[in-house]
Amino acid sequence: MEITPRTKLVGLLGWPVAHSLSPLMHNSAFQALGLDYLYLNFEVKPDQLEEAVGGLRALNMAGANVTLPHKEKISKLLDEVSPEAELIGAVNTVKNSGGRLVGYNTDGRGFLESLTEVHGFNPQGKKVTIVGAGGAARAILTSLAPQGASRIALANRTRSRAKDLVQEFRDKFPEVEFRAFGLDDLSEGKYMADSDLFVNSTPVGLDDRVWLDIPLELLPASCIVYDVIYNPSKTHLLRQAEARGLVVANGLGMLLHQGAKSFKIWTGIEAPIEVMKEAVMRALEVEKG
Ligand code: NAP
Repeated sequence: MEITPRTKLVGLLGWPVAHSLSPLMHNSAFQALGLDYLYLNFEVKPDQLEEAVGGLRALNMAGANVTLPHKEKISKLLDEVSPEAELIGAVNTVKNSGGRLVGYNTDGRGFLESLTEVHGFNPQGKKVTIVGAGGAARAILTSLAPQGASRIALANRTRSRAKDLVQEFRDKFPEVEFRAFGLDDLSEGKYMADSDLFVNSTPVGLDDRVWLDIPLELLPASCIVYDVIYNPSKTHLLRQAEARGLVVANGLGMLLHQGAKSFKIWTGIEAPIEVMKEAVMRALEVEKG
């Protein structure tokens, strides 16, 4: 990449960030379109977020991505937060417009767009079961609830967390039937038989030796099984679902589409998503050996 006196800087604020694929994804896209931007990783310690946000302004950076552990805390340091990021309760993208910092969250729309694009999924009237009640689940709820999903059932290890999340969304989307339950109920098959979409939004599956005990045989043959994890590309859950003949999707599409939306927020230009995908897939192949 050519660095010029006018190169605009964007970067990832997180802790740790060393393994992020975002620099590769975005720099490949900038390069492919000949845009004078550069994306770097910034390791920002938990107690230095405020200084880092000041740095975005002081160095006139074009914007940033935000990841753990800063996604929730950064909101109060920004000048404005989009309604979507407000609802998710976390910011993953910041745009700097002349010192005014606006926070967005592109995870939810990234999730839905990846599903729609590849599997033609339309949430209208659909019944969805989600495992997990953390940040990814909030983003997924935010994408599905306003789009007319008829029932969203949330199963979480800590049942009270699922209950709290469901209560919050119930108040905002009274037309959607929300349910919260524990992993024990899930292993007994609760809400499985009529699910149109089944999502794992937990990190379980990152380690291939660990998985949740879920009776996938109860899911209907038309159900799509989605795992937010993309490395490994086929988690135990997806392999099991595929063996049952179900349509499966991993989190690569979500990663690419949330990235493409951030790219558009910073540059105003549609992201070359195929270029981003190729770069990320190549890196994942190299990592696999
Ligand atoms: P988070 O806010 O920390 O939430 C984690 C969730 O997973 C919680 O519901 C937690 O349950 C549950 N969980 C964690 N370990 C578990 C275990 N051993 N057994 C059962 N449940 C467990 O994390 P997050 O931000 O939602 O991220 C979750 C995953 O999504 C991560 O792997 C992240 O990399 C991935 N993600 C992918 C994309 C993408 O673009 N593909 C985007 C965002 C996130 P408790 O409430 O009981 O702790």
